[in-house]
Amino acid sequence: MPSRKTLLEHWERSLQQSGVDSPRLSAQVLLAHILGMQRLDMLLDVNTPVDEHCILRMDALGRRRMNGEPVAYLVGEKEFYGFTFYVGPGVLIPRPETELILDHLLETLDPDACLQFLDVGTGSGALAVSCANLFLHSRVAAVDISLEALKVARKNALFHNVQDRIVFLQGDLLESLRIDSFDVVLANLPYVPLTTKETLSREVLCHEPHGALFSGLDGLDCYRALAHSLYEAMKPGALLLCEIDHSQGLAMIDLFSGIAQNVRILKDYAGRDRLAVVVF
Ligand code: GLN
Repeated sequence: MPSRKTLLEHWERSLQQSGVDSPRLSAQVLLAHILGMQRLDMLLDVNTPVDEHCILRMDALGRRRMNGEPVAYLVGEKEFYGFTFYVGPGVLIPRPETELILDHLLETLDPDACLQFLDVGTGSGALAVSCANLFLHSRVAAVDISLEALKVARKNALFHNVQDRIVFLQGDLLESLRIDSFDVVLANLPYVPLTTKETLSREVLCHEPHGALFSGLDGLDCYRALAHSLYEAMKPGALLLCEIDHSQGLAMIDLFSGIAQNVRILKDYAGRDRLAVVVF
């Protein structure tokens, strides 16, 4: 029987040849998933032999990975802000850049406050569930237009035992919601400009839901609709945080400065505009 090391080297080479992102990490995450182990524990005993069943399962998942399927969909989960989230092809895989929203909330809000959050376009529920976990006296409403996404988000709320403080609603953006009851609105809406579609990796483009990524030619259709619904509807002092594309900072200032007290654009760790912080 080959060792873990031999199997990993084989798959790292095959994945590299097929041009997928992070071939080594992909091979390690898939094998750890098959073995039911943490990746680092698996690597501590890298000379342990692997059995036939494991080789066959690695073959099946490795081939799908070679085809560009994201690792998170293959293993059914993704880590976000230190929490584990179920994910599947019906929801966007949580991105590390979205963690910036939670960093900002923790920097500016009292973790013991009784806050009402709204997460619009919740997807896997990563933001909604993390908020419920980080702000233990808060309540969260999580909205998505996709029933499939809401199913995943509910499963994540149950997994993290915060289902009593989150209500899930199906709807298009803010339709039929009482906006003035919320202290904080979080929005990681689709924002990728259709004009930049060709620059996305094939893994994203061929496997993640386009409805969660694109929003018109300049990517701002959803945020324009959101601004329209929020006009004169937010409680004074309420906060809106929107994740954006690096090209959209000025356009977001234009969009919200007429309807809010203050709009600021924050940068991500790569130094690019990523977050619009709007105070009403
Ligand atoms: N950040 C994601 C990407 O670049 C897009 C997320 C979104 O549209 N909300 O793939």
